[in-house]
Amino acid sequence: MPASAVEQVLEDALRLFRWRYMHQRPAQTSKGWRTALTGDRGFPDFVAVRRERIIYIEAKGKTNKLEPEQVAWRDAIVAAGGEYYLVRPANLDDFVRDVLASR
Ligand SMILES: [Mg+2]
Repeated sequence: MPASAVEQVLEDALRLFRWRYMHQRPAQTSKGWRTALTGDRGFPDFVAVRRERIIYIEAKGKTNKLEPEQVAWRDAIVAAGGEYYLVRPANLDDFVRDVLASR
């Protein structure tokens, strides 16, 4: 299961369980895939809010590794007390059940 399929499942679950979310997606340009942004690269794929909770989710395929910029964001979010999740095919079902579907 590629990261794009993990992202699709996450998006469906976020909607189903009524999270307000933002999914950052790259666009194809003449120079390849690019994500328009200013600031620091590597922000998690999703930020989602429901009631008193805000979570950050990075979606990856089975063997994709976090880029150094993504590690920096993870560490900064966790240091600030944020809830950060790295979701792969192997933990996708558990994540949806334990985090997205939970109260
Ligand atoms: Mg990703």
